[in-house]
Amino acid sequence: RAKQRGRDTFHLFDPNHDRLLQVRHEQRQRFIDALTHNELCLYYQPQVDMRSGKVVGLEALIRWQHPEDGLLAPGQFLPIIDTTPLEVDLGEWVIERALRQLSEWQVQGIALPINVNISPTHLLVSDFSQRLGELLARYPDVPPVLLKLEVLESAAMHDIQAALQNMARCQSLGVSFAIDDFGTGFSSLTHLRQLPVSLIKIDQSFVRDMLTDQDDMAIVESVIYMANRFKRPMLAEGVETLDHAKALMALGCDLAQGYGIARPMPAESLPTWLANWPSREEWSSLALADN
Ligand code: C2E
Ligand code: MG
Ligand code: MG
Ligand code: MG
Repeated sequence: RAKQRGRDTFHLFDPNHDRLLQVRHEQRQRFIDALTHNELCLYYQPQVDMRSGKVVGLEALIRWQHPEDGLLAPGQFLPIIDTTPLEVDLGEWVIERALRQLSEWQVQGIALPINVNISPTHLLVSDFSQRLGELLARYPDVPPVLLKLEVLESAAMHDIQAALQNMARCQSLGVSFAIDDFGTGFSSLTHLRQLPVSLIKIDQSFVRDMLTDQDDMAIVESVIYMANRFKRPMLAEGVETLDHAKALMALGCDLAQGYGIARPMPAESLPTWLANWPSREEWSSLALADN
């Protein structure tokens, strides 16, 4: 017993271990402050149909306006809360913000769907759909079809039964789903049929090098072929150049999102971007250029 306690004591007072826990605790505490003190905000990146030039939706991407460190991207702070219950708090905050934004844009005559990223931890929470229903009820003027949830294939695979159940319940509320980073998971083909998703997003890592790397081109081609066979709309992420856009259209993928079209922007910048988009003819009338 004494020996056992001795070992525990050693563990507890291991200075490195202790220090690490302390740092993590402080980082999480700092994140909770950010959440409650309005330091987080959503940026929006347009998604367009390259053939018609129409803007079809927006992806909401979290940013942390840190008072000392400036604007932080999710990669700089999401790891702090990875697989902790804070992911659920963040997810609900993001959904609430997106709904509020939809409600504001409704008044301004902008009716574009918003895609929200949902972490695997959050998707599998048992009362996910119930909480979503409560959030939707706070914004009765917002049609639930304007909200789409982006989930990773791997999240659904982690516990397929729970994921399918939650997704079905959300769907009955009118909310739809997209598979994010498609192609990076393991079970792409088999489970695609099972998952109730209305959009497949091809991961940007394949799109980026598709013009120079034959393997990536083969992956993009297969995903597009398959999505078309399953009659699911698909969108290419990370579309940075016109050449990418043209190649994707030639393969049968018309929806795109990427720096070539627009970088993620604050909500206030969107109306101006929307007004200027049609004047960027090389991008917004690709179908005409095609003929
Ligand atoms: P994602 O959902 O796959 O989002 C796409 C990421 O690619 C975004 O990075 C976006 O800014 C970036 N991107 C868009 N177009 C291009 C392009 O043409 N080239 C390149 N190189 N990158 C492009 P971001 O905003 O840093 O977000 C990174 C990831 O963080 C997201 O990947 C998503 O998994 C996660 N994330 C972002 N916002 C949220 C959120 O609100 N909740 C959760 N749980 N995760 C989020
Ligand atoms: Mg996403
Ligand atoms: Mg993605
Ligand atoms: Mg990603």
